[in-house]
Amino acid sequence: MPPETAHRSVQCYHCRRRFEVGVRAVTVSCPGCHKRLVIEDLVIKNAQAYTKLQTCGRVVVQRRGHVMATLVEAHAGIEVLGVLEANAITGGSVRIGPKATWKGDLAARTLRVDSGARIVGGRFAVPDDPLGLAATTPERADEAAP
Ligand SMILES: [Zn+2]
Repeated sequence: MPPETAHRSVQCYHCRRRFEVGVRAVTVSCPGCHKRLVIEDLVIKNAQAYTKLQTCGRVVVQRRGHVMATLVEAHAGIEVLGVLEANAITGGSVRIGPKATWKGDLAARTLRVDSGARIVGGRFAVPDDPLGLAATTPERADEAAP
């Protein structure tokens, strides 16, 4: 039996097809629509503007990071230590850190807001699983081990 961590299930954010990828893969092409997919975690270290910031992994906005986007879709979770201005959806957990600023709507499975975080505005739906993503990203803690 192969190790459970050898593959993980992801969902295409273009056509919503679900498929398996190797855990070490960084980008893949969707077998359904053949579009390129980002599956790695995206770490934002400075000010960045996007139309859509999408990954099958996580989006992490570091302390000096500032994301301005129409949509942030991070299937495995979002962590904000800097500033996020976007409407965000995730099948995972969201953490808004102690000096973070959040502005925008959010749909997430779980939400943790640290003391000192600023939430400027937005409609939050928690717990929510807008894309049925929870089934494809049940646990991330398992993958923390090297
Ligand atoms: Zn696709």
